Amino acid sequence: MKAVPRTAPLGMFGGTFDPVHYGHLRTAFEVMQALQLRELRFIPAGDPPHRDPPRVEALRRLELVRAAVADQPGFVVDDREVRRQGPSYSVLTLSELRAELPEVPLCLVMGMDAFLGLPTWHRWHELLELAHIVVAPRPGWVAPTTGEIGALLAERRSFDAAELHVALAGRVFVQPVTQLEISSTELRDLLAAGLDPRYLVPDPVRALLHATRMYSVPRPTR
Ligand code: ATP
Repeated sequence: MKAVPRTAPLGMFGGTFDPVHYGHLRTAFEVMQALQLRELRFIPAGDPPHRDPPRVEALRRLELVRAAVADQPGFVVDDREVRRQGPSYSVLTLSELRAELPEVPLCLVMGMDAFLGLPTWHRWHELLELAHIVVAPRPGWVAPTTGEIGALLAERRSFDAAELHVALAGRVFVQPVTQLEISSTELRDLLAAGLDPRYLVPDPVRALLHATRMYSVPRPTR
């Protein structure tokens, strides 16, 4: 791997990771390499605000992400959203990271599906004051030219990755990645049916899923 410049941005990849899979991991890896990030932090949501409650509790999902990234230099697990009380709003996480790292460019990484839902996020206009947004295209999800996201792209899109190293925040960059149409939803269904997730998740994740049967046992009552 090439040496990463001292001024390199820090990447943040948030998600429910219910469970984590190769679609997440390969995307994060390609973004980290292509943009020469100093580090890519996986930030599992404790209480994701924009969707149904996760199938598996936060500490379990965190354990799976830790197992998934353990052998990859530059991949780091950040458990702040699991430790924090209340909804896992990205704007709060970014504010904390900005306060901790005032001089470091931050890149919030997300799939195109998540990016298109941005206007529903809590205080979403503040996100680009705190970080850049890096979008990974996904099949079936097309960036619009109209509406709030169209306007955001017209105003903020950068076509030069070097700009992400110069400014601390404020740009939107689309980074093509290998398309692996794996989803956690599909994995949950597969595991509930007693099938083997081999080749969809790393072996340490598969081993944990197998040992704990966390997606096979009935959903805990809340
Ligand atoms: P679910 O099926 O439960 O909605 P998911 O597989 O989409 O889950 P999330 O944890 O919701 O996973 O996604 C976290 C982030 O990863 C989001 O930004 C999402 O766009 C992105 N992502 C999810 N799956 C893929 C994939 N196969 N390739 C690229 N990015 C992905």
